[in-house]
Amino acid sequence: MLNDDFSEIARYLNQFHRDSLLLVASALLGHATPTDTSIDKVSRTSCLIQVVAGDDQFSHEVALDITRDAGEASVSDAVRRAIFDLVRNARRLDRSGRPPTQLERIVAATESETWFDAEVRSARQLSSSIRELTFGSLAGFASLGGDEHIRIGLATDDQSRAGRAFFTVRRARPAAGEIDVWFARHPSGAVSQWAASAQPGTTARVSSPRRVFQPPPDITHLVLIGDAPGLAALARLAEEWSPEIKVTAIVAVDCTTARVAFAATPEVDVILTECGALGTVAVRWFYRAPRPPAGTYVFGAGEHHEMALLKRHLRGVGGIGRDQLAISEYWRRQS
Ligand SMILES: Cc1cc2nc3c(=O)[nH]c(=O)nc-3n(C[C@H](O)[C@H](O)[C@H](O)COP(=O)(O)OP(=O)(O)OC[C@H]3O[C@@H](n4cnc5c(N)ncnc54)[C@H](O)[C@@H]3O)c2cc1C
Repeated sequence: MLNDDFSEIARYLNQFHRDSLLLVASALLGHATPTDTSIDKVSRTSCLIQVVAGDDQFSHEVALDITRDAGEASVSDAVRRAIFDLVRNARRLDRSGRPPTQLERIVAATESETWFDAEVRSARQLSSSIRELTFGSLAGFASLGGDEHIRIGLATDDQSRAGRAFFTVRRARPAAGEIDVWFARHPSGAVSQWAASAQPGTTARVSSPRRVFQPPPDITHLVLIGDAPGLAALARLAEEWSPEIKVTAIVAVDCTTARVAFAATPEVDVILTECGALGTVAVRWFYRAPRPPAGTYVFGAGEHHEMALLKRHLRGVGGIGRDQLAISEYWRRQS
């Protein structure tokens, strides 16, 4: 039976890519300016978009062309690409000069990605949940700092999406062509299983890096929130920013793992919690003050549901500006 349920794509776009949907809505409306928009339904042939402009509400059914690229791994991939084509077309029609949307930035980064044939140089178990691998043979790797992340692929070609996932560069040594990566242990997953037993000499494909964290220069307090997969990003950002500014880290890892992560930054205020409680604990922490003061910047890297809870709270009750946070879902717990 064909799987025609693409509600997950609609949910994802509504939650994380409203700026792209507004761009598409502007193109649909022509001269009127949309005040809100969301996707109601996605099928393999069309997508139903609700657009609000002032007191008026319109419903547009837009055709999706999923036939163009036969090389796509699944129908979902083809539907995602067809929706991005809508964004591309809307951009062509846009005369407002609005900045690139988050989705446009992601796609541009993917299109300009280059791949290296890397080799594991060393492997160390840092704690019961984190294993560090050092990758070498990365001559020309242009480190971006911050939360820079790469894709690691186990297949020998660059197109296959199987056995490929994002990982953060914990440390980069461009002169030596080396990077360190922290792999969180989890029971399923091709790349994590591979990392759990990878030894020096094992090879993998490593992509060029990209980054999300771009805070304004005048931040005074950085709040880092994450779990084991997000830990490398949190540890690296803590090292880059403290002690110049106040850094608080709310992390869902065990005590030993946290000690390893923040060993070089003892001034960081570390609050420990457990996986499954991260979103709630972080939200409660923010409730201590009526709203985060100006100068606060929140970086979140963790499980999908917990990051969604955090983002809802901070954007809603917390009243924090879009330019004060970068919250990314790094993985998703299967319910
Ligand atoms: C920007 C970015 C940076 C990231 N950086 C890191 C990093 O530095 N270190 C790191 O370990 N991860 C990191 N991740 C998360 C990592 O990409 C995912 O955990 C990914 O799913 C791992 O790929 P896999 O092949 O092992 O598992 P997949 O094949 O993708 O997943 C298989 C199953 O495992 C489950 N799963 C995936 N991750 C976990 C987990 N951590 N715990 C429990 N279940 C899980 C999934 O729900 C799925 O059911 C990052 C993600 C992003 C988006």
